[in-house]
Amino acid sequence: MAEKSVAIVGAGPAGLIAARKLQALTSFRFTIFEKSTRVGGLWNRESFIHPEMMTNFCRFTATFSDFAWESVDLGRPAPVYPQAWMVEKYLQAYGKLIPDECYEFQTCVTRAEREGEGWRISSIKDGVEKTRYFDYLIVATGYLQHPKELRCEIESSIKTNPLFPVPILHSTKYRTLEQIVPLNESPQDTPHTVLVIGGSHSGADIASLIAHQASDARWSPNGNKAFRGVKVVHIGMNVLLPIPGMVWDKTATHVSMHPLEFTLCERSTREPEPLTFAFAPASIQENQILLFYYKEIIEGGVGDLDFMETLPANVALGDRYYQCIQDGRIQLIPGAVKRLERGKDSDSITARVKGKDGKDVVVDNINAVINATGFNSGGGLSFLADDVKEQLEFDPANTRLPAVLNASYMAQNPQASSLALLGFVPVNWGIIEMQMRAVVNRWTGRPFDEDPAHVSALGDHMRYIQAAIRDERRKQEVPQFLFGDYLGLLEQAARELRMEQIHGDDGAFTGFFCSSRFLGPGEPKTEALKTMRAIRRLRAVIDRRNPLVAYVAFTGLLGRWRCASQTESVGAGAETVVEVEAHPRYPTAPGYDLEYVVVLRDGAGREKTTLVARYTEVTYEITLWAVDARKSALEAGPLMFKVPIDRDSNGELTGPFGTVIYHVDFRGSRLDGFSVTMGKGLATEQTFVFERPSGLVVAEAALVGLDGKGSLAAEKLDVRSGGNGDGAENGPLPSAP
Ligand SMILES: Cc1cc2nc3c(=O)[nH]c(=O)nc-3n(C[C@H](O)[C@H](O)[C@H](O)COP(=O)(O)OP(=O)(O)OC[C@H]3O[C@@H](n4cnc5c(N)ncnc54)[C@H](O)[C@@H]3O)c2cc1C
Repeated sequence: MAEKSVAIVGAGPAGLIAARKLQALTSFRFTIFEKSTRVGGLWNRESFIHPEMMTNFCRFTATFSDFAWESVDLGRPAPVYPQAWMVEKYLQAYGKLIPDECYEFQTCVTRAEREGEGWRISSIKDGVEKTRYFDYLIVATGYLQHPKELRCEIESSIKTNPLFPVPILHSTKYRTLEQIVPLNESPQDTPHTVLVIGGSHSGADIASLIAHQASDARWSPNGNKAFRGVKVVHIGMNVLLPIPGMVWDKTATHVSMHPLEFTLCERSTREPEPLTFAFAPASIQENQILLFYYKEIIEGGVGDLDFMETLPANVALGDRYYQCIQDGRIQLIPGAVKRLERGKDSDSITARVKGKDGKDVVVDNINAVINATGFNSGGGLSFLADDVKEQLEFDPANTRLPAVLNASYMAQNPQASSLALLGFVPVNWGIIEMQMRAVVNRWTGRPFDEDPAHVSALGDHMRYIQAAIRDERRKQEVPQFLFGDYLGLLEQAARELRMEQIHGDDGAFTGFFCSSRFLGPGEPKTEALKTMRAIRRLRAVIDRRNPLVAYVAFTGLLGRWRCASQTESVGAGAETVVEVEAHPRYPTAPGYDLEYVVVLRDGAGREKTTLVARYTEVTYEITLWAVDARKSALEAGPLMFKVPIDRDSNGELTGPFGTVIYHVDFRGSRLDGFSVTMGKGLATEQTFVFERPSGLVVAEAALVGLDGKGSLAAEKLDVRSGGNGDGAENGPLPSAP
């Protein structure tokens, strides 16, 4: 076959996948046009995803089958949920596998039009325009390139006054608290309410990032005091069900925690026959069954779900958001912001919200507004000529499904066979790999058994969803994840592409399903096998030692606790009760992934002791450190929860305090309480029993949100949580050891 040429537009994950598959499976020449200076797309630090954000898929899903996370030097083992800066490193290392001469950086594609069977591509670099011919075109410019404007009424005096002191910015522009909190105000007395608008993942991600930064500012030894009073109110049209990243494994006979996808993408949870991608719209009832399923994963039972009965909900995947809702650092109000107007003190904004229950809600004293209402997905296709857009049934107003792409697993329209659009419906990277394999097979004439009837039915379904998105009244027919059956899609694609499968331990229909499980003919296998080995290793460690119980216990510590301690000296016993609060901050010592400041207060709210708790994913260890404020150093070594925690979630270790026995109570994936006994067998034995204080808000209550009242004043927002600990002065915190 004559050597063909391919233009790839975009060097994000999708563009890189395209190039790597062309490299491995064809002799085609290709050029990658990238308008920025480097590879990585949204994961570049200058782009939209904040470097500190954590992926909401685990690293076994956010991976390419031809490049294992084990092959990247992060200076440490990759965590189960990597942060965005790690993903950027991963993508840069992956991009190096493609020869330099294939890239054209700082080159923006401005027009793509048909020329005969192929494509005339116009691009611009340093002000110089160029036009070149290619046989094929791959558009990998990203589904989330163009942030949406905030769609609510904004009082003109706010809109037209550039000096108005309340910043309003899109979530993609947010980096640090300095952008949203004026530095010249007196710190402790002025609460700063940050309003985040947008009820899906970008809202949840940015709200929890800001809450985390605010907690760090309050509790870190180097934190900026000006940010102490920051509070986050999150408003979204949907009731959000926060889902943690590590969950209870309900198939285990003992307390065991594993990554969420080990449950969601476990093949044996589906029928033991070959799967076909299911894309029919889910009914409200089906949606609710799914939510019940999620609730069971989180809480070990469905509990009180009254609030779900009338309201379809979105889920928000990711630990940080889950923790913030659990401990009350984010106040979630389901509803639609109708109007932003000048607040009473004229230096703030008041938001008028139509609550999900129909009642009006007023949020006062807002000092910053973050717009996280998403993206306009059609923007990345703007350079396509009109006749091409027509073939794609392009609908510029359709912000979620701009084109009908029913062939090659939602990457092609049968009317434009020399064109592929990768990642233009929201799918994970593994599915994008399948899309590209399908495109390659089509363009090279390799065997490909795509079922035309399925393609046609998918086309009809996409038109149906497009119409429902356009029509405000049909919103309920549009699911949060438009085409969410990733298991079905992976399995059907692998079958039709005649791929080999690395089976789960018991055969084809068990085990975790991810892209590395499937090996295409002619593709290198080493990296996929590395990933599969890493998954097996993690599973084996979980089975043997249960280490992630320590992680779930640690993240469960956040918020407020009531601790009763009992001292048993020979012949004497005394009970003391203290309030305990755990606040997150960035780790102040190397080698730790998570760190909290733990404050113990007496019955009158006076601070008695400050401790530091730390977690490291490398050894899955929790350690608790006593703080010596005078010397600004830590004086006591590791104290509690050394793994393994045994089958009944009890454990024992020996250390400077004699034998320590601990017991951890979980309800599903949630830490309900725990106890620690120290000095077992010694003259003085002390037992600490931790329980949640009555009235503490946890996930469901925060979701209901409004206390049944129509109005919510900003200054009241922290009343039912540990909040940011305002009003309880803590004195200077000691610096890191
Ligand atoms: C806040 C946020 C959090 C996210 N979190 C996750 C997550 O946890 N897990 C996950 O899997 N996904 C996540 N995503 C989804 C993310 O979109 C995908 O992971 C992935 O980045 C999509 O890859 P892509 O290559 O399709 O697009 P992009 O990453 O957007 O890359 C597109 C590239 O095309 C370039 N480009 C655009 N137009 C042109 C042009 N005309 N000429 C030349 N170059 C052009 C851009 O500069 C960019 O480099 C998140 C997205 C956002 C916004």
